[in-house]
Amino acid sequence: MERIHLDTVILNASELLTLSGASHAPKLGSELGELGIIEDGGVAIRGNQIVAVDTTKNIKRLVKPGSHPRVIDAKNKTVLPGLIDPHAHLAFAGSREREFVQKIQGATYMEILESGGGINVTVKATHKASRNTLVRKGQHTLNRMLEYGTTTVEGKSGYGLEPKHEYKQLLAIRDLNLIHPIDVVPTFMGAHVIPTKYKKQPEKYVNLIIKKMIPTVAKKGLAEFCDVFTEKGVFSIEQSRQILLAGKEHGLIPKVHADEMTTFGGAELAAEVGAVSADHLLKVSKTGINALAKAQVVAVLLPATAFVLMETQYAPARELINAGVPVALATDFNPNCMTESMQLIMTLACLNMRMTPAEAISAATINAAHAINRSHLVGSLEPSKQADIVIMDVPNHEHIPYHFGVNLVKNVLKNGKIVYLTQ
Ligand SMILES: [Zn+2]
Repeated sequence: MERIHLDTVILNASELLTLSGASHAPKLGSELGELGIIEDGGVAIRGNQIVAVDTTKNIKRLVKPGSHPRVIDAKNKTVLPGLIDPHAHLAFAGSREREFVQKIQGATYMEILESGGGINVTVKATHKASRNTLVRKGQHTLNRMLEYGTTTVEGKSGYGLEPKHEYKQLLAIRDLNLIHPIDVVPTFMGAHVIPTKYKKQPEKYVNLIIKKMIPTVAKKGLAEFCDVFTEKGVFSIEQSRQILLAGKEHGLIPKVHADEMTTFGGAELAAEVGAVSADHLLKVSKTGINALAKAQVVAVLLPATAFVLMETQYAPARELINAGVPVALATDFNPNCMTESMQLIMTLACLNMRMTPAEAISAATINAAHAINRSHLVGSLEPSKQADIVIMDVPNHEHIPYHFGVNLVKNVLKNGKIVYLTQ
């Protein structure tokens, strides 16, 4: 290869995790455990792109004599693609720490919801908040995500539940994408819960979503995806189908909160409507698993949600992997699940779903990119991809979930620029 002008080179990584070869289709089965590791690895960066990924020796050979790229020494460190969080609820107001206490004292999510707490508290606070307030709060969240190594996140609305407030939330998400280094991928989730005033006539709310919100969101380009909380007592299979198909007609790609609390057929619906992902899946049936595998819907598993609900059961990650379902991981950041850390998610995935460290890393990078249609840009370290790179202060990838409850990130590069650096 000829010597070229480079802006930055990362050298001497004890392990460089490329996650290469899965940009066109997600990693399945045993591929999930393959990280494409280069020992004593390096990365060459020009502008916002990766130019080469190779051994340190070969990366050094690329540097044009007389040119002076910035050199980042990753000795004794692990270099990997920026983490991708493909399921987060962003730009809401308020907090629900009191509910945290109620949960400890024994109340279930549904009990809290039915007593007028839970999501309704966040909806009220979000109604009162201005777009700017939502942006300021969202910035705080994104700053922490970035510090913990996340460089791309999905952001869902769903705390407005009225046209103007849903649009306000999506506009705040758009603002965040523009002003923050993290790329924020917007999802419309007006179908998060049936608002209290429509409790007796849920069909009216479904109609409002289909006839008014979806067309407006699509016309204004406020979202790429349309998500529904398909669950007993929330949106039925038929209501979910109507919403997701209406979204699809307007160019919004379906996503489903599926089979979280009951075996409800959400996974089957996700496969039927051609969803890009089915998320949660704690109670997914065998038929549901087979449907996801056949349609290659990405299963986005959210172990922190089960963790904060103090569930003993987690999503059947091993069964999903063995059946050939592409598996990804996400935080499910929301007022009920307050973590920005994909590092914690990987630890929970290993300990509670028996995913190996390598599988968890694939699920938090390239497969997560597939869950939000970004695999052509991010999720692996390969030439021509965005230079979104995390350097962790650990000698090998197994340390990432093993050493938990602290931040292992040393540097974060976003589009080739250092956006986070510890001393
Ligand atoms: Zn969610």
